[in-house]
Amino acid sequence: MTFDYAPAPESRAVVDIASHYGLFIGGQFVDAASGDALKTVNPATEEVLAEVSVAGAADVDAAVLAARRAFDEVWGGMPGRDRAKYLYRIARIIQERSRELAVLETLDNGKPIKESRDVDIPLAAAHFFYHAGWADKLGYAGYGSNPKPLGVAGQVIPWNFPLLMLAWKIAPALACGNTVVLKPAETTPLTALAFAEICQQAGLPDGVVNILTGAGETGRLLVEHSGIDKVAFTGSTEVGRQIMRAVAGTSKRLTLELGGKGANIVFDDAPIDQAVEGIVNGIYFNQGHVCCAGSRLLVQETIADTLIASLKRRLGTLRLGDPLDKNTDIGAINSAAQLGRIMDLARSGDDEGAERWTAPCALPDRGWWFPPTVFTGVSQAHRIAREEIFGPVLSVLTFRTPDEAVEKANNTPYGLSAGIWTEKGSRILWMADRLRDGVIWANTFNRFDPTSPFGGYKESGFGREGGVAGLGAYLSAEEGR
Ligand code: NDP
Repeated sequence: MTFDYAPAPESRAVVDIASHYGLFIGGQFVDAASGDALKTVNPATEEVLAEVSVAGAADVDAAVLAARRAFDEVWGGMPGRDRAKYLYRIARIIQERSRELAVLETLDNGKPIKESRDVDIPLAAAHFFYHAGWADKLGYAGYGSNPKPLGVAGQVIPWNFPLLMLAWKIAPALACGNTVVLKPAETTPLTALAFAEICQQAGLPDGVVNILTGAGETGRLLVEHSGIDKVAFTGSTEVGRQIMRAVAGTSKRLTLELGGKGANIVFDDAPIDQAVEGIVNGIYFNQGHVCCAGSRLLVQETIADTLIASLKRRLGTLRLGDPLDKNTDIGAINSAAQLGRIMDLARSGDDEGAERWTAPCALPDRGWWFPPTVFTGVSQAHRIAREEIFGPVLSVLTFRTPDEAVEKANNTPYGLSAGIWTEKGSRILWMADRLRDGVIWANTFNRFDPTSPFGGYKESGFGREGGVAGLGAYLSAEEGR
């Protein structure tokens, strides 16, 4: 006998969403010079949450100028121990306002509240705590005895982990003495605007952090602005390429965190139940909107049938629905456009001859949803084995030997993440030596920690975020190692 879960909704009353938000420039909220605005929508209900300003060229100029002034007059020359105090203060305020931020993130993004509450917001605070610790110790980080900041950083982030990606960008930049102009994604601006309020609350000097909302054009204006010294981007490989072209031939420093097609590799000696949990966490966490998702399952042929049967049983227990319900495992797809991309790629799986299995779950009438899906009989040539789907869709391939697993795992233009499931430590090390990925998890998947550098090879981008390695992206090259 099984029991249904009673509804357990988190209260929406803990957030107070304004009907309109301006841009955050020089410590103040101001309207865009053009007066243009866009609407941000709750993807689970299609309800308009708020209207936000769209920054144009004049606003980008004003924000870069404010950041430059703050760098020259206050932040760039401030002793590290004083910068650290602000970062600690921001981290504490994120913790204090964590419930509100989690609800806001879930409303704007569609991710389950248990993920925003237990993953996104605590990790965002952890990034500020971690980097606060570095601010007065940069001379010991391996970048020379007195490394210098770069100046003004232009940062563009995606919609899959809005506040967390903001923390990944802003915390190291500030700890190293840079000032920033950040553009959140068009569909998820609200927690970045709440972060602007947090900067005010923390008494951060005006202009150290500037937030420009808008669409891709605002991002383009920012990264191409001649007044910035450093560009940091997370998003699609296609936009990454455009940015690389725009930055080429300038003195701007660049880091790119782009797409991925991570292999989750399960050997026949792996503990099956744990591996199944790892596969679920690898591709169905955050509706699969994860650059390092384990979207290709490589399973050793001898255990493939058993593992797939177990996986399907487990997927049958996932609850899809209201993201604000604390029991929800699978939330909404962030936008109609993203849902369209997922549907197109899934259709190509059908057309190319793979076999689709869908978890039995009812989809709500309103909003954008895609059920947990598994494709078996996938070959390496299929689009669903090569392209980033960025949705809750797993492509299953099989292998017989460790060499074949390595060859198949590396057979991708990407190189961001991989997982290895086996009880043999020697095999983990053997595999890790051969996999061309920036992050390799052993008997786990999608674990994040601010002390651990994150980044990719090949078309997954370059540069590292987090850990000591991540500091290098925000410190002056002249000081060298
Ligand atoms: P984008 O790469 O377009 O968006 C990422 C960020 O870049 C957003 O803030 C976007 O603004 C901004 N942007 C768009 N165009 C430019 C430009 N020319 N110059 C500077 N900034 C720009 O990703 P999408 O949201 O369009 O998603 C498309 C696909 O990309 C997904 O299906 C997924 O496969 C992949 N993706 C991968 C991510 C990853 O982490 N690896 C993250 C997000 C997407 P705005 O959103 O306002 O248009």
